[in-house]
Amino acid sequence: MHAAVLEKYGRFEWKQVERPEIADNEALIKVTYAGICGSDQHIFKGEFHPRSPVPFIPGHEFAGTIAETGPEVKNFHTGDIVAVDPIIWCGKCPACQRKHYPACTSLKLLGVDMNGGFGEYINVPESMLYRIDPSIPARHAALVEVLSIGFHACSRAKVQTGDTVVIWGAGKVGQSILQAVRTKTMNTVILVDILDKRLDLAKKHFPDIFTINAGKVKPVDRIKEITNGKGADIAFEAVGHFSEIPGVVNPVRGCIQSIRGAGTVCVLGLGDEPVPLLMKELIWKEAVILTSRVSHGEFAETIKNLEKGTLKPDALVTDILDPADIQHGFEMLEEEPENHLKILLKFA
Ligand SMILES: [Zn+2]
Ligand SMILES: [Zn+2]
Repeated sequence: MHAAVLEKYGRFEWKQVERPEIADNEALIKVTYAGICGSDQHIFKGEFHPRSPVPFIPGHEFAGTIAETGPEVKNFHTGDIVAVDPIIWCGKCPACQRKHYPACTSLKLLGVDMNGGFGEYINVPESMLYRIDPSIPARHAALVEVLSIGFHACSRAKVQTGDTVVIWGAGKVGQSILQAVRTKTMNTVILVDILDKRLDLAKKHFPDIFTINAGKVKPVDRIKEITNGKGADIAFEAVGHFSEIPGVVNPVRGCIQSIRGAGTVCVLGLGDEPVPLLMKELIWKEAVILTSRVSHGEFAETIKNLEKGTLKPDALVTDILDPADIQHGFEMLEEEPENHLKILLKFA
């Protein structure tokens, strides 16, 4: 089979590799589509070293068709269409004992800590499979993982019907949160970014949201204006790093300033820089600040919403590439972030 192998940091090669063998409890998945994630961009640049040593096959957002099953696989059969939950937790650490798996101290992901779905075939334990109705387009099945990040963030922040929500960051994660939020509340949703093209893309698919370009307008002032001075019930931070725009607060502090008294801030951005906060801004509001990492249990909710047609998965996808062009895909994401959101690789 062929796979996109990250030969060294910054260099993919589409090459012949050995087709994986399956264990008794595993299925062999023929990959149809796989998505390139922001984490993959970090892996590509070597920023996840030593978690992701090269050479290896990344890819943790993917779906496919079962080509073969091991003798212990009970509930799935050859020909089933499946999305794969890439998360492997230990089951023993204090977080796992509380069933809080995304916080597992030795959390591992397919395609991050071991070979993943950027190949024509992959072996996956039955426990990580979710069946997808054949009526759902294959490219949408590959988006279940990233959409579940949005649903998980919503469940962490307890988004309720009628909530007013601000999302800082209109990248892949921010727009996945937007999709999930819109299944929960039809009240005001505000999206903040500095790239007009990303804001326009979201607005095209969700015309009733407000968008703010933080490079042009003071976002907190504008959020106050839109919410009649009250502030939002919930603010999500999905910018991904401490980004300094002259005269504008950093995104986490911006979230704190955006919410009402007793509101909630949910932080998802994974930056390496410390972020200065003025804690009394949080304390005066007696607000909750919490975090959201991967997903847990939201695959079923995402798939149900895909079946009901309540999501707009194509709004996330800007490009569909042949996997042989993967190097080009990563370079496009680095060089023109304003033009590309989710890139899907079409394997079959
Ligand atoms: Zn991801
Ligand atoms: Zn654990």
